[in-house]
Amino acid sequence: MRKNIVAGNWKMNTTVAEGVQLAREVESAVKAAGELKCEVIVGVPFTHLTSVKQEINIVKLSAENCADHKSGAYTGEVSAAMVASTGAEYVILGHSERRGYYNETIEVLKEKVDLALANGLKVIFCCGESLDERKNGVHFDVIKKEIEGSLFHLGAEAFAKIVIAYEPIWAIGTGETATAEQAQEIHAFIRGLLAEKYGNQLAQDTTILYGGSCKPSNAAELFAKPDIDGGLIGGASLKAADFMGIVTAF
Ligand code: PEP
Repeated sequence: MRKNIVAGNWKMNTTVAEGVQLAREVESAVKAAGELKCEVIVGVPFTHLTSVKQEINIVKLSAENCADHKSGAYTGEVSAAMVASTGAEYVILGHSERRGYYNETIEVLKEKVDLALANGLKVIFCCGESLDERKNGVHFDVIKKEIEGSLFHLGAEAFAKIVIAYEPIWAIGTGETATAEQAQEIHAFIRGLLAEKYGNQLAQDTTILYGGSCKPSNAAELFAKPDIDGGLIGGASLKAADFMGIVTAF
């Protein structure tokens, strides 16, 4: 049976001290909440990984990116091995901000996925269409291309370490959420793609998250859909109370 997950993506927010405080608050709220119906992850900047790791136990740790090279003369880059050495369990790859602002192509992401998996990290792989792509009716094609191009070279054993996050670009940080029906339609489509490629069992076992202006007020409706297994949360992950409002929406 697949796992439900609520993962925060802090992006380029908080100093180390602020991040440590936020992680502390999330960990203690999760502890106080008792048995939860989802795994809780915080995705934090590279600089915060080691310090945040000291503050969490139930909550799992994710990086927001890793390099597309193994090691060497790539000034300023952070490798998958470095991320793994902090105790992080996950890495977010393919976020639309990285695809858009840093030209991360399908091919580059394929390299990153391979390096992350080779270093024992699980991958939260983001995909999603722009508003123009949705208006032009090519959103299914875009998502198919992103998933096929960066993930479908993996064997089934490796693919079991992948979590997919559907994040329509038009809903990220805009306050505009995809309706639960729109999200469900895409999640079912993605699960269908996985079933075609890897068979129904693996498709049923894969966690597919929704991301895009998810907040305590809309999380329950989204998570009630059969193919929505949780959320990747940007803005609302920066306040422990809001984040917990989503975590407890299951
Ligand atoms: C994100 O960037 O992953 C995201 C979902 O952001 P927000 O929740 O702020 O829309």
